[in-house]
Amino acid sequence: MKYSKRMSSLGTETAFEVLAQVNALKAEGRDIVSFSIGEPDFDTPENIREAAKKALDEGYTHYTPSAGMQDLREVLAREVNRTRGTSYAPENVVVTPGAKPVMFFGILALVDEGDEVIYPNPGFPIYESMIDFIGAKPVPLPLEEAHAFSFDVEKLEALVSPRTQLLIINSPQNPTGGVVPKESLQRVAELAEEFDFWVLSDEIYSRLVYDGMFQSITQFDGMKERTVILDGHSKTFAMTGWRLGYGLMPVKLVEGVARLMTNCNSCTAAFTQVAGKEAITGPQDDAEGMKQTFHERRDLIVEGLNAVDGFNCLKPAGAFYVWPNVTEVCANLGLPDSKALQEYLLFEAGVAVLGRQCFGRRADNEDQEYVRFSYAASTEVINEGLRRIEEAGADRERAERFWKSQG
Ligand code: PLP
Repeated sequence: MKYSKRMSSLGTETAFEVLAQVNALKAEGRDIVSFSIGEPDFDTPENIREAAKKALDEGYTHYTPSAGMQDLREVLAREVNRTRGTSYAPENVVVTPGAKPVMFFGILALVDEGDEVIYPNPGFPIYESMIDFIGAKPVPLPLEEAHAFSFDVEKLEALVSPRTQLLIINSPQNPTGGVVPKESLQRVAELAEEFDFWVLSDEIYSRLVYDGMFQSITQFDGMKERTVILDGHSKTFAMTGWRLGYGLMPVKLVEGVARLMTNCNSCTAAFTQVAGKEAITGPQDDAEGMKQTFHERRDLIVEGLNAVDGFNCLKPAGAFYVWPNVTEVCANLGLPDSKALQEYLLFEAGVAVLGRQCFGRRADNEDQEYVRFSYAASTEVINEGLRRIEEAGADRERAERFWKSQG
């Protein structure tokens, strides 16, 4: 068959490919410890599940308005105002099936072919995929270990130009767990004003900040008018499979994004929206409990990785990822890069992690290697993973044999 030309520029999220590899190995009977997929290992809290069941019985099985049910939009506007100090109205909210469509539709609605889009790198791979897909010019903004995996403001200033149409920020960050400091957000706000560009603020991990307070770019004057906030229920409420996300944006842009929703999804599943309202208005103990557990696991995995020869791991302030520097491990094992280390750990040690290549294209001058661990896994799993990594990391002969066998 012949694909349309535009398909050749569509990327993907390789985490799903590694997940498929993990599942295939498990089906063969292999015991795999997985740190690969970015989703909470908890079940959705009971009050939310019950709300969905009740909603189904009450007939929430029909279409809803494309931008979402009015009472959910009200609840979400109130919640965002409470947590960001903003003054959004329900009319500023679009409810979507998962948070990804906010990214997809937001970029489609705002960016033309040839426009420049600045985005975090390493970063969530769908940003780069979308930018390429619509024929815009990708302008990667390096996130650096020396800046606790935020960006160097001077480097950002050098990348901004009159052709910049959109800047994407993600804080807390996937894959690094880094958080953008308030002063850097303020500088972004000033640049956005000066160069007249939009900001897509991916705040999906806003409820998972362990050190300090969550900061949104929308707190700065004028930013509400040029920002799309992306958030959702997937991570905070362990609802990845429900598909519930939302965006906050100027009303004029809501019209466009809702039109894209009408064209693509019609609406988000009605009973999912009812459950999503319960998630926000109901008891928060489960969400807070999950956050506390992630916090403890972060400390465990950071300490454990730093105890392994060749791993150097910063303690990130948020999300549920760590991004240790593995340059030394790769050298010790005679492996060329983090992709080779990813494969060695998966096939030889039964540990699934994601290498640098899963998070956007590398810069020419990049000489450090990193892998992502999602620590949305139990203490036992983390300890077992660390044990295997320590063992495999000390076995150069095995690594060389493996690498040779890969041709
Ligand atoms: N943004 C970031 C940074 C993410 O890591 C993810 C999911 O991994 C999403 C957005 C998408 O979330 P959802 O599953 O709700 O579409």
